[in-house]
Amino acid sequence: MKYCRFLFENKTHYGAVEDRAGEPWIVDLTRAPEEDLAFRLEHGRATSWSFDFEPMPLTAADLLPPVTPSKIVCVGRNYRDHVKELGNEIPTEPLLFFKPPSSLLKPGGVIRIRTASTRVDFEGELALVIGQRARKLSPLAGWRAFVRGYTLANDVTARDLQKKDGQWTRAKGFDTFCPVGPIVSDELDPEAGLTIETRINNEVRQHASTLDFIFPIPALLAYITAALTLEPGDLVLTGTPAGVGPLAAGDRVEVSIPGLGVLANTVAPDAD
Ligand code: MG
Repeated sequence: MKYCRFLFENKTHYGAVEDRAGEPWIVDLTRAPEEDLAFRLEHGRATSWSFDFEPMPLTAADLLPPVTPSKIVCVGRNYRDHVKELGNEIPTEPLLFFKPPSSLLKPGGVIRIRTASTRVDFEGELALVIGQRARKLSPLAGWRAFVRGYTLANDVTARDLQKKDGQWTRAKGFDTFCPVGPIVSDELDPEAGLTIETRINNEVRQHASTLDFIFPIPALLAYITAALTLEPGDLVLTGTPAGVGPLAAGDRVEVSIPGLGVLANTVAPDAD
């Protein structure tokens, strides 16, 4: 299953996504997983079902973030080479932090750099989309039943404020600092190894495999859900590989994993 979330005739829809001649198309309006927070909020208010919907290329749609999480749980320092590039010690247990849902940004949206920071970095990441309420998961088995699918994220980070503040709330939490999308898919397997790549203005800056995780997905989910309950639609950002670097106004940043498409965003100074 692959799906996206998008605006169509001024209403929010979920769309089933299929490949047609190698390009992703929205082929049908689909009922979202009913447990999704967005579905609950939008059903009967903004969402309607149209039966004369004409399939359209994904690239022609006005895409939204494909999920509306109650929380975004992030893992820091989960690739060895990235830990080294920032001069940190290899962690002995996962390092967790949050990004607020207000930081979500749609595919194609503009990352806004605030004057409060002099260095804003990109961090391309694989994100898990939770499919059912999860607490105290076993690190050994069964995690797949709790994951609806996978998507792409950019854990945009004000690196200077991360160091200065101690707490990472501002550094990770500015509006627009969490681009997510374009689709959710369950048709791939991170444990078999996914190649993640981040490009700035078409230049490859990050290139790694999810096989290089320090803490694999079952260990991450067990660690997270030992502390807090994950809800349907929640996101887990699994960490970024080596190669992080600063963004500048005018840049175009792309994160990709084969099967998940390309999450592309541009960068501009804050608008007001
Ligand atoms: Mg990160």
